[in-house]
Amino acid sequence: MKTAMLPFLGKTPLLAAALGLLALAGLATQPASAEERAKDLFGAKKLPAATAAQSIGFYSKGCFAGGVAIPMDGPTWEVMRPSRNRRWGHPAMIAVIEQLSRDAAVDGWPGLLIGDISQPRGGPMMTGHASHQIGLDADIWLTPMPSRPLSMAQRESMSATLMVDEKTHLVKDALWTPAHTRLLKRAASYSQVERILVNPGIKKKLCDTVKGDRSWLRKVRPFWGHDYHFHMRIGCQPGSPGCKAQEATPDDDGCGKPLAWWFTQEPWRPNKNPDAPKARDLMTMANLPSECRAVLDAPGPASAEAATYHGGSVPVAVAAPEPEAPSLPATAASGMTGLPSAVNAFTATPEIGVPLPRPRPPGN
Ligand SMILES: [Zn+2]
Repeated sequence: MKTAMLPFLGKTPLLAAALGLLALAGLATQPASAEERAKDLFGAKKLPAATAAQSIGFYSKGCFAGGVAIPMDGPTWEVMRPSRNRRWGHPAMIAVIEQLSRDAAVDGWPGLLIGDISQPRGGPMMTGHASHQIGLDADIWLTPMPSRPLSMAQRESMSATLMVDEKTHLVKDALWTPAHTRLLKRAASYSQVERILVNPGIKKKLCDTVKGDRSWLRKVRPFWGHDYHFHMRIGCQPGSPGCKAQEATPDDDGCGKPLAWWFTQEPWRPNKNPDAPKARDLMTMANLPSECRAVLDAPGPASAEAATYHGGSVPVAVAAPEPEAPSLPATAASGMTGLPSAVNAFTATPEIGVPLPRPRPPGN
């Protein structure tokens, strides 16, 4: 990762070649904004792009248009950390969250505390998360919704419950309940949900305790963090030709060797270079699919409320006024291939995107 970034930072001939390619693709017309950090531009957007819903690029390198917000409160959910303004997603993502909140309530989970989904137009974030960029990822707390409504101040300050012992990486048995298992099983039951990321300790708890139907465990993947919340990821949705799917999860329950790797020393060795810049700190508009520029420039809806999801099938963002909505190109192919892979430091890797633990090196 670091090595791959060096030629990029150093503006070597490789980069010059890459910029040449971009010029051919017509991107050199706006060189100044191409140099701006994508996280600053996307982080500044308060409202979505009021166009048809479309995810563009990859979970850890892209953006989306036509986003909708989940209301701050529902009968079976509350949005946490509201000041972050990350309650935006593809309408299909918001619909899945809403459905999960209702189904989970029937299963005995009183309601969802909803963490980060995406920024209004996605893209890299100022803080946290390598993914969550195309409106198809959502974090749900592993803490049930309290019976009394939380004030906005409480939602900013209340802590989630740490479910895993940081030394042993095992679930704290006093905290884990069958309702936690049912919540994850319900989330995995939706066909749109492709992956659920949890701490390895939680995956192990499921592997050790789930009886009967274990087929859903295939979707539940171990990853660093995710010990206060789980991460629910849905697949690319219709109408998003530029959405890049991730690799399918293996067919087995994932309880064998790949899980055992997480209980070795290797995944937990201290980062040798903790101050190295993260991908989000380096990404410029030139690193994102070129269509993300149109997403950034598109007009927004009249208000956040005009693009807030209230159930049903009406695409609210599209219903909002959009007199000058630009037409997004039908394909993101040009943006996805704008840089030669050698200088593309942001290609998805297990570290920043898909959790595919490598087997331990032999003899180690
Ligand atoms: Zn997440």
